[in-house]
Amino acid sequence: MHLDIRQIAKDFGDTAALHGVDLSVASGELVALLGPSGSGKTTLLRIIAGLDFPTRGQVLFGGTDASLKSVQERNVGFVFQHYALFRHMTVADNIAFGLRARPRARRPSEADIGRRVETLLELVQLGGYGKRYPAQLSGGQRQRIALARALAIEPQVLLLDEPFGALDAKVRKELRRWLRDLHDRTGHTTLFVTHDQEEALDLADRVVVMSNGRIEQVGVPEDIYDRPATPFVFDFIGEASRIPVQVKAGVPHLGGRAVPLPADVKRPADGPAILYVRPEHVTLAADGHGLGGTVASLHRSGSSRRLSIRLDGTDALVEAIAPYDGEAPPVGGRTALRFHSPGLFAA
Ligand code: ATP
Repeated sequence: MHLDIRQIAKDFGDTAALHGVDLSVASGELVALLGPSGSGKTTLLRIIAGLDFPTRGQVLFGGTDASLKSVQERNVGFVFQHYALFRHMTVADNIAFGLRARPRARRPSEADIGRRVETLLELVQLGGYGKRYPAQLSGGQRQRIALARALAIEPQVLLLDEPFGALDAKVRKELRRWLRDLHDRTGHTTLFVTHDQEEALDLADRVVVMSNGRIEQVGVPEDIYDRPATPFVFDFIGEASRIPVQVKAGVPHLGGRAVPLPADVKRPADGPAILYVRPEHVTLAADGHGLGGTVASLHRSGSSRRLSIRLDGTDALVEAIAPYDGEAPPVGGRTALRFHSPGLFAA
């Protein structure tokens, strides 16, 4: 089932939580909504689910306007971090809940429900756990049961809001891989909300970066990381050095000298601008061709060494990574830098 979100806006009194958001999700895609707290991720997910209604705009399921349809009519499955299992029900009864709640005409027989529950327990790798109660499960197991419960109604779309948010880092990582495998086997169109960039970049087919109720960029993880479209994406995802420059005739200048850039970098209008570059995208040029600078600090970070380099003619520091076994100039030493995939934006 493909999804189209058209010009969705949501106001809560004076607060605009979403400002005209457009997004299309292809059938079977796994899409992450990533952004800081308050950027509108949950609001967008709730509007898609039918748990909340937009002030303006439309949500289309398979090309049909669902804006006025209820949660049940939309047939979405959702797992929220705080949407706990029913404590007084066994695991099997929790999974069966959505099916038993259906009107009689669409309700499967008890035998069919039993079979469906068993299949789902196998799918989430908890076969044999049906008679337990939620209190007898670990946090990760509970979230897998919550996912089985969401899948029981055979949803057209699966919506997950920080489904692993409350779990410790190791379990979270395991469940992340597990969710990707489950998605590949079942092929549900899935949207999940996270504020964890590693989770989004690792898990999703495409990532939607949100800030202040707007979409900053939509793209495959490589694009989001290697070709950030806005200063926000440079800052929010990964790391970037910020270098103040002056753009003259489309060319950035630093301390009066032109900074050579790859041809495909978009140029802002002439005037003050900021050049962004990730540490991974800085080459220490052994041939001396590049921007001159002096090493201000050097330290080991995991398997590589990190350098802070003060560019000639400015106070700006640029972070770079020296390969583990490669040459690195010492503190106070001279080096030359070349930038790959930088971004240039008006200041
Ligand atoms: P988080 O990661 O913290 O969950 P989020 O990106 O999911 O954040 P939302 O929960 O969608 O953000 O909130 C977006 C904005 O809308 C915030 O400014 C929030 O305070 C506001 N907001 C959300 N729900 C309501 C509500 N029911 N009433 C008033 N304001 C709300």
